[in-house]
Amino acid sequence: MSNKNIDVECREVGLRDGIQIVKTFVPTDEKIRWIREEVAAGMPNMQVCSFVPPKLLPQFSDAPDVALAALEQDGLWVSALTPNLRGAQTAQAIGVHEIDFMNSVSETHSQSNGRRSTAEALAEFKRVVELRDSLPEGKRFKLAGGFATSFGCSFEGHVPHNAVLQSVENFVKAGVDEVVIADTVGYGNPREVKELFTKVIENFGDDVMVGAHFHDTRGLGLANVYAALEAGCRRFDASLAGLGGCPFAPNATGNIVMEDLVFLLEGAGLNTGIDVEKLLPIREIIATNLPDEPLHGTYAKAGAPKGFPWNSSTASIQD
Ligand code: ZN
Repeated sequence: MSNKNIDVECREVGLRDGIQIVKTFVPTDEKIRWIREEVAAGMPNMQVCSFVPPKLLPQFSDAPDVALAALEQDGLWVSALTPNLRGAQTAQAIGVHEIDFMNSVSETHSQSNGRRSTAEALAEFKRVVELRDSLPEGKRFKLAGGFATSFGCSFEGHVPHNAVLQSVENFVKAGVDEVVIADTVGYGNPREVKELFTKVIENFGDDVMVGAHFHDTRGLGLANVYAALEAGCRRFDASLAGLGGCPFAPNATGNIVMEDLVFLLEGAGLNTGIDVEKLLPIREIIATNLPDEPLHGTYAKAGAPKGFPWNSSTASIQD
């Protein structure tokens, strides 16, 4: 947890996952304005970019500038995604706090998305571990592993829990600091989420922090959050206005909506450190720069219920 005064850590991933497949380039200044305004709303953690070759994803051609600006924000934990050592080297040179190494549980998704086998991804991950461990203590970045397609894959269908557990075990043995279980294409449901998160946390929770990354592709995103909460998960990815889509389902919704996530958590008496009302005006940045992208979120449409936020001493979820 990057901030000790909160119960649950939300991480904004809109500037990475949200804009990844959007063709319109969001100007660097506007990305930085988004970061600044979310930090002012209390956001503790943002995944601000992806370090990948610009010809592959031109949206991230300004990744170094965005990451540097994010690092200037007081108290913000800055993470960046990369699929390889080269990206990790760039991210490390810039000084991001956390590097998220992307890999897929599904072999077919790994081949199609990353053009490599899961074994090759693990071998590359070990090179990033070596990079981290070559740095003096106190100068090391936190290294997270993102496990895409943990609940299912558009090629293989349902992904068995044992495949996820094996994959996580490989990364834990290799030296990962944190794992993020990702439902990349919205196949998860609350019963399965509770089962899988319980198993991951029971098996690896003493060694690594376990985060959740849900998409709302089929409308179960927030229900899945609550199921993961009950299993003991305390870190959740989401994006402002649910920005982002699914490359395999062109009309589908994207990441779970940050505003609704904060409403759910704060309503359950869990302190996120985020003022949901201050998030709402930031949606304008998306509306202005990406006018073709739909703005999701039911809290933004309905507004706060009377008297919200209520007294948080009525916490209903305990560890
Ligand atoms: Zn995602």
